[in-house]
Amino acid sequence: MLKKLTRALFGKPGKSRLPAATDTETASLPAALQALDLPDSVRILTRDEHGISRKQISPNALKVLYRLGDAGFHAFLVGGGVRDLLLKGSPKDFDISTDATPEEVRELFRNSRIIGRRFKIVHIRFGREIIEVTTFRAHHQADTTISDNSSRKTMRDMDSAHSDAGMILRDNVYGSIGEDALRRDFTINALYYTTRGFVVLDFADGQNDLDQRMIRIIGDPETRYREDPVRLLRAIRFAAKLDFRIEPSTEEPIDHLADLLGSVSPARLFDETLKLLAGGNAERTYALITRYRIMDYLFPATRAATPDPDSSAARLVQLALRNTDRRLQQSKSITPAFLYAALLWPPLLEALKERGIGPDERPRQPVLQEAANEVVTAQLQYTAIPRRFTAMMREIWDLQWRLMPTTPRRTRGAFEHPRFRAAYDFLVLREEAGEQTHGQGQWWTEFQRADEERQNQLLADLQSNREGGKKRRRRSRPKRNKGNPDGGSE
Ligand code: ATP
Ligand code: MG
Repeated sequence: MLKKLTRALFGKPGKSRLPAATDTETASLPAALQALDLPDSVRILTRDEHGISRKQISPNALKVLYRLGDAGFHAFLVGGGVRDLLLKGSPKDFDISTDATPEEVRELFRNSRIIGRRFKIVHIRFGREIIEVTTFRAHHQADTTISDNSSRKTMRDMDSAHSDAGMILRDNVYGSIGEDALRRDFTINALYYTTRGFVVLDFADGQNDLDQRMIRIIGDPETRYREDPVRLLRAIRFAAKLDFRIEPSTEEPIDHLADLLGSVSPARLFDETLKLLAGGNAERTYALITRYRIMDYLFPATRAATPDPDSSAARLVQLALRNTDRRLQQSKSITPAFLYAALLWPPLLEALKERGIGPDERPRQPVLQEAANEVVTAQLQYTAIPRRFTAMMREIWDLQWRLMPTTPRRTRGAFEHPRFRAAYDFLVLREEAGEQTHGQGQWWTEFQRADEERQNQLLADLQSNREGGKKRRRRSRPKRNKGNPDGGSE
């Protein structure tokens, strides 16, 4: 009955394209999709089965799907957009996969540009929204291997290439939708939605893994991780984000392949650390990257400086991540500079300690700068932090000492500093983490809440405390100079 109905709606299904499946799990193939060379194993989910409605899809993504379709191409929503809709969540972005080449897509959309070398991708911009369009890609033949130090010319001349270690260096070999699906990372990311017949094509049993709440890599796990070690991070990211388990054979190699991350460019790793830690699930993700020894390849100095999870240094990192998650939940802004300032604070304290500066001592400017340089330079070998963020991190660090209320003039100066707010938030987290800060955070909390009169009073108190302190010191000095060890206690 169902078959009859769908046939009446969409036309006769292609003979060999449909899997041998029951009526309940597979619908007929819409006529418009019959030209696609679908593998027998594809599962077709009808609108009733997948429940995705066009209302949930960004109007811009729909516009792209329809315009590509009208121009005679196949176009599908794919990846996180489909996955998150099937999970009844709201997708972060909408990615589209098509049989049009990047150049053909570019011609259809004036507001588009081709980006990427490793993968050619078209970005179509609609105001602040970017729809990413990729062309169906085929899987690589591992025999198109080039050695890591081969000439640039050789690489440029090839559309696809692997390094000796099995890593994909270039990936612009176009293929069928079935091939495209199998070169995606996880089964739950290989689901394709089309407005032609409103079906979802499931190439790797992804719907089943969504039901089982499971992250499962497509193909042989070790080969797939070697092709692109960032998939190690992606497995963890999705497990944390979706609160899914990682399927055992997908999970098993993560530990011992973690060192492959050493071959990923620091620029790409910086982007990935942000996806891991600034995606709203930082706390859970951090617990996983620690468990899988990934920290050694992302933040080795942080790991080395936080051996005790109950130390104030480790707690500060934890609190900063929790704070980031909370801010994102409340739709507040976050900056990578704050996150990195927190992650690298424990190594900074260590670097200061090596220079003889204790945790609650004030380092001289050149000493602080030298220690900060050392920590930042070491981290840049792993994740290439853009300069605007390193500059802001240094300011947040520097202000930690400048926020020690001293003279009214300096205190006002710190308050008016453009990074005051971030530095104050950081100080409060340090206090919460159990660091000894002599109540500085509380002082500033009171100062900010106070009206002008009260603020002046607090500053005047500072001044008189200072003068009191100075007088005491001045009087005590002559006695000490006379060799009286108990001198100064009045
Ligand atoms: P998010 O919600 O974070 O956007 P996503 O799954 O959409 O999740 P993207 O980075 O936007 O992730 O990638 C879109 C899709 O491209 C993925 O769902 C996956 O199918 C494919 N993909 C992305 N990165 C890789 C990779 N490293 N290896 C294989 N496939 C990948
Ligand atoms: Mg996406």
